[in-house]
Amino acid sequence: MWKERGEAFVNIHTHRREGEIYILDISDGKESREGELCSYGLHPLYIRGEEQIVQLEVFARESRIVAIGEAGLDRNSEVTMEIQIRWMEQEILLSEKYGLPLIIHCVRAYPELLALYKKFHPRQAWIIHGYNNNKEILGQLLEHGFYISVGKKVFIEQSNISRFLSFIPRNRLFIETDDSDFPLEKVYEETARIREMSLEELKTGVYGNFQQVFGRREV
Ligand SMILES: [Zn+2]
Repeated sequence: MWKERGEAFVNIHTHRREGEIYILDISDGKESREGELCSYGLHPLYIRGEEQIVQLEVFARESRIVAIGEAGLDRNSEVTMEIQIRWMEQEILLSEKYGLPLIIHCVRAYPELLALYKKFHPRQAWIIHGYNNNKEILGQLLEHGFYISVGKKVFIEQSNISRFLSFIPRNRLFIETDDSDFPLEKVYEETARIREMSLEELKTGVYGNFQQVFGRREV
């Protein structure tokens, strides 16, 4: 259905309905509207109990859900890394079972995340949302085929992502607003400026990636 919309601004991860095409995170229980693309996941900061995994599978079967996420690992969570990894494994299994890409939240747990990737050899795309880590980790993620989504941190001149943004190949890049108030177009403009490419070129690239990853769900 999004083919008709041409090369629209794509927002790969938002909590606030921003962009011409967006994937709305409804993990917090918000209602979706007719035709909206949504993601649902078990955020590592909000792990409570096994019933969440049952709930996740209920969502994963719904047609409005096009991705699982935010899913991931967070060193700042009160939940132990061991439990977070167990939850993430369930999310990976459901991602593979239902053909849903993963939108990943990862804070200071990249070795564990990469270990999971190597353990499961997933067929589904893994998209790191809000990436803002160092060049070495970026290199490892790219080597393993991850997609990298960038957001508000591009406005901070000395942020990791501003410095390493140009190292992300065009065919692995996504743009997001997450929970920020920044207009999506501004994030695109700043990303294009840093990468020394035109806004049109960036839009075309991100839209192509969106089709590549999510296009197979088209009917
Ligand atoms: Zn988010």
